[in-house]
Amino acid sequence: MPLIAVLAGDGIGPEVTAEARRVLEALGLDLTFEEAPVGGAGYLASGMPLPPDTLALAKRADAVLFGAIGDPRFDALERRLRPEAALLGLRRELGLFANIRPATLFPGLEDASPLKPEVVANLDIVIVRELTGDVYFGEKGHRTTLEGLRQGYDHMSYDEREVERIAIVGFEMAKRRRRKLCSVDKANVLETSQLWREVVNEVSVSYPEVALTHMYVDNAAMQLVRRPSEFDVIVTGNLFGDILSDQASMCAGSIGMLPSASLSDWSGANGMYEPIHGSAPDIAGTGKANPCAAILSAAMLLRHSLADEASAQRIEAAVKAAIASGARTADLGGTLSTREMGDAVLRELV
Ligand code: ATP
Ligand code: MG
Repeated sequence: MPLIAVLAGDGIGPEVTAEARRVLEALGLDLTFEEAPVGGAGYLASGMPLPPDTLALAKRADAVLFGAIGDPRFDALERRLRPEAALLGLRRELGLFANIRPATLFPGLEDASPLKPEVVANLDIVIVRELTGDVYFGEKGHRTTLEGLRQGYDHMSYDEREVERIAIVGFEMAKRRRRKLCSVDKANVLETSQLWREVVNEVSVSYPEVALTHMYVDNAAMQLVRRPSEFDVIVTGNLFGDILSDQASMCAGSIGMLPSASLSDWSGANGMYEPIHGSAPDIAGTGKANPCAAILSAAMLLRHSLADEASAQRIEAAVKAAIASGARTADLGGTLSTREMGDAVLRELV
């Protein structure tokens, strides 16, 4: 029986994760759930954001359903004790190198996007962001130059194995969708990007059915606003992916609608699934949070870690139907509470 680790975390994390779990339970699948504290909740429970028992559960589980972490009460703690440290720890320990963020516009939410309705109509993009390399993990520091100027530096690097494995995720994703992969880099300036482009081209030989294009990141930023629905799958490095995936998410309207998956390989073993939003301390406890991003993350869990495409689609269809029938939380201009939005999705589950 598949085991789901439920790490609900802080702020609205527990509120939205409870709705995702209710929807998973309503599917009538043979799933077991086990909860553990993480983030600020982990720190309160055992003095560290990622308690050893929580990590052990995440490793033992088939997949992790993650809420959100972040709690302003702990902002003054040293970096390793802050809630956010748990996320980096989990990514590292579970080997999660591929971050998958679909940005889809649900019919009826055209007015929620800052872009014109005709521009975002049919928006259906997946961004595949590399998660373990790039400037985030290279040598970094600050020093004083010979002229006495303060200087900061971050070393950007990728090796071919890192590029190859994320490229494979991009191609596999494109193969299952509209078969268009756009690899985003800055190969006119960066050595890392030149290697990136070379390796992506090499991997493409194994995927003749996927149409591959390369785009410079500056152009990609422009095209995402100009004609976002032209994109199918975008594969890119850690830094560019960070920026472009936030940009793409806005095309789709509310942050409360967007799920994500972090994977360690294409099989989805040990995958971690979470809404792209944070713990939203400003609305925590008010019942205003939109649970759709968490519910859609549960759908991704079924798809990628449990290979249950049919159940994933049942959830996605239910969210779509609830939105189409007018169910709206405050972020979407409505009045439903978190629980009522969960109810609306459950009513549409067939
Ligand atoms: P993090 O650093 O953890 O990503 P953040 O500072 O980016 O956090 P969020 O927690 O994502 O911030 O919140 C950003 C804004 O979006 C807040 O005003 C919050 O209330 C709102 N928000 C986030 N998630 C939701 C949601 N599920 N439903 C409604 N509003 C949300
Ligand atoms: Mg954020």
